[in-house]
Amino acid sequence: MATPKIKELEKIPNHSIGIISLIVILTIGITVIIASHKLAPSPVKTMSSSHLNQTQPTIATTDPTKTPIRPTYDSKGNPPTALGLVMKTRAFDTEPSKVVYITIDDGPYPQNTPHLLDVLKNENVKATFFDVGKQIEKYPWLLKAEYEQGHSIGNHTYSHDYNSLYKSPDTFLADIQKNDNLIFSLLGIHTKIIRAPGGTSCFNIDYYNSLDANDYMAFDWNMDTKDTEGELSIQQIVGNVDKQIGHKHKVILLMHDLPNKSSSANALPLIISHLKEKGYSFGTLSPKIMPITFPEGFYKAGAHS
Ligand SMILES: [Zn+2]
Repeated sequence: MATPKIKELEKIPNHSIGIISLIVILTIGITVIIASHKLAPSPVKTMSSSHLNQTQPTIATTDPTKTPIRPTYDSKGNPPTALGLVMKTRAFDTEPSKVVYITIDDGPYPQNTPHLLDVLKNENVKATFFDVGKQIEKYPWLLKAEYEQGHSIGNHTYSHDYNSLYKSPDTFLADIQKNDNLIFSLLGIHTKIIRAPGGTSCFNIDYYNSLDANDYMAFDWNMDTKDTEGELSIQQIVGNVDKQIGHKHKVILLMHDLPNKSSSANALPLIISHLKEKGYSFGTLSPKIMPITFPEGFYKAGAHS
């Protein structure tokens, strides 16, 4: 049985053996190339990691010690990172896909706070009032009205005095605690959401550490009515908001209930209707909402960091 096969092999001409040898050599060569390619770093992997970096523009490595600075919480609630920064991990609520948090700062004032409360009631929208302690002392009934109408109460410091507040993290914290205790004496709640006068751009790392150690959370904003920039008309205020909406899925809107800001309250129904038309719902701030904060403070080392 084996003989015919040997004969068949003997029949194979010499040039065919050469071709077969060439095929075998080529096959081995290609296999070696593929194997060495697999061992080398994959170009696809490199592209995907650079793509990840592009989708996280908040991550910077400008710190000379190479400590990565991330001035935001991540999607799992892990805190911002920077050299010397020690903040807690948080559990945040899932938010609607398009949501606006209206925040009203600097009151209460009898000239505008009741008007704003009426507008919000008519529109069936809840907001967050960041109140100032020295105003609360003068008009405690307005704080109570805000709270009883279902709005969120935030702490905008007792004094609102930049000189004393930004002397040190300790003076800032003491002022916040003074207002916290005042609000507690009137409402029986400790509000843990704060807004720094001027925003957290005035902070350094020690301010975040000090506030976080005392469970406070700072909220800045990403949309500004600019109603503190002179006497604006209703149309100018509404225009300022319309210009900034863009494609934001989450908005923290800054406005004020200072005595000379009647146009802010008058503009609010139009602002709300424009935002509703664009598909936004309205929410109130709490420690369960991931904050929006300015990045600047995370790049400033403190005395203890
Ligand atoms: Zn303010």
